[in-house]
Amino acid sequence: MGLKSFDRHKESLRDGREVYFDGERVADVTSHPVLGVGMSFAGIDYKLAEDPGHRDLAVCTDPRTGEEYSRFYRIPENTEDLLKRRELIAAGSRVNGGPPLIKEIGTDALFALHIVADHMDRHLGTSILPKVRGYFEACRAQDLGFAVAQTDVKGDRGKRPSEQHNPDVYVRVVDRREDGIVVRGAKAHTTASPFANELIVLPTRAMAESDADYAVSFAIPVASPGLKLIAEVSSHPGGNRFDYPVTTDLKMVDTVTVFDDVFVPWERVFLCGEWRYAGPLANTFVEFHRFTAASYKLPMCELFIGAAQLIAEYNGVANVTHVRDKIMELIAWTETTRGLLVAASMEHKVVPPGIAVPSITLTNIAKHHFARNYHLMVQNLQDIAGGLLVTAPFRRDWENEATRKYLDYYLGGVEGVSGVQRTRAMKLIRDIAASGFGGYQEILSIHAEGSLAAQRITILRDYDVKRCVEIVKSYLKD
Ligand SMILES: Cc1cc2nc3c(=O)[nH]c(=O)nc-3n(C[C@H](O)[C@H](O)[C@H](O)COP(=O)(O)OP(=O)(O)OC[C@H]3O[C@@H](n4cnc5c(N)ncnc54)[C@H](O)[C@@H]3O)c2cc1C
Repeated sequence: MGLKSFDRHKESLRDGREVYFDGERVADVTSHPVLGVGMSFAGIDYKLAEDPGHRDLAVCTDPRTGEEYSRFYRIPENTEDLLKRRELIAAGSRVNGGPPLIKEIGTDALFALHIVADHMDRHLGTSILPKVRGYFEACRAQDLGFAVAQTDVKGDRGKRPSEQHNPDVYVRVVDRREDGIVVRGAKAHTTASPFANELIVLPTRAMAESDADYAVSFAIPVASPGLKLIAEVSSHPGGNRFDYPVTTDLKMVDTVTVFDDVFVPWERVFLCGEWRYAGPLANTFVEFHRFTAASYKLPMCELFIGAAQLIAEYNGVANVTHVRDKIMELIAWTETTRGLLVAASMEHKVVPPGIAVPSITLTNIAKHHFARNYHLMVQNLQDIAGGLLVTAPFRRDWENEATRKYLDYYLGGVEGVSGVQRTRAMKLIRDIAASGFGGYQEILSIHAEGSLAAQRITILRDYDVKRCVEIVKSYLKD
């Protein structure tokens, strides 16, 4: 095996996992009226490999065995690997209208685990890399889907894990046994976990010696006893494509992920008490994950450009100077992010054990540039569209003959654009930029993959400022 069909992935999720949504335990996430839509959305990574139009991009062949496997599992070694990975992530997001992330985040974590395990083995004399490799190859052979639980619930943000009044707000080891460890705690915002086979757990921050029990990383099947997923959805309930053209099929699901004394066998434990490596593992993961993040966001930027241009044409303002300026800003925002990702792929660094890491500075600037400007770009789109964005009547008024004739007659735009055409464009913009989902996207842009401050700290840490100081000093010599 090496490639799993979407139907087989769906089948693999009927395993007794403990998922809660809207006050109830969910018996089967695949057939639930809301989570089932989220499952189908998250499954695009599997569907792409089955789609003749994307198969070349989504599937790789192992030259040694001739076996096919998902490109997400290709460990990047050079610019081409990184560019293809970026293209594939964007393709999933473009076909879906949003990011699926069922293989993207997990493989980001696995690349980071390879790098940090290699470092640990060379410096501590441990034997973690063979475990990581064994786990990675088993997952690749079964084409498993992942969620990554890194962000702890954290309690008092001003205190370290071991200083908290509640000792369980960071996931920690509560028992070490001959056959494995027992972990307790909770992580927040775990994307797509109800639709994953495996959950990879990473530390969320650097640790001190006193935090050693919190320096823990491991992987477990989602159906593990004691693991509880309490789900929330990005837009709920939605339901018809006239009023909700994008979010009817786009449901991003995130969970509060509770570890109620979960047992993890040693062969699945990658970090346990080596506190000096918690920070490097957290940081190495986001080096890949922010590259993924900026890649999956680009199709949404393109949707903004297209929607802004279309509604400007419908409204008869496409040639007005301030409207053209705003569309230009949308294009510059999109293409700056894309250009930075291409440059980050080209200026990668290959680190032991032979993995290409995209330029840290450029990747973080790409993510920061996208996120810092997101709300401004929403403003541009809302500004061009006009107030009908939030006041246009819903579908049922367009189905009622008593009201439809007035709406169609009065709400039209330029000659040839009917009320219904213009309203449908408005509904699309509302759906992505002025709705519950629009608000979700704004929070996603600021916080997901780390808050803006995290990117700024990383850029300052990675960039060689000293080199610039030396240039200045060279002018100050006699
Ligand atoms: C939609 C969505 C999906 C996500 N998906 C995942 C996922 O799949 N897996 C995962 O692990 N995480 C995920 N995240 C989590 C994401 O990485 C975090 O939201 C982010 O790191 C911020 O953490 P927080 O939400 O706890 O906010 P906080 O950490 O509370 O941040 C709030 C503000 O306080 C500041 N702050 C916090 N602590 C300090 C401090 N000690 N010193 C100075 N400033 C501080 C922050 O910079 C920020 O400005 C997701 C988040 C969102 C919104």
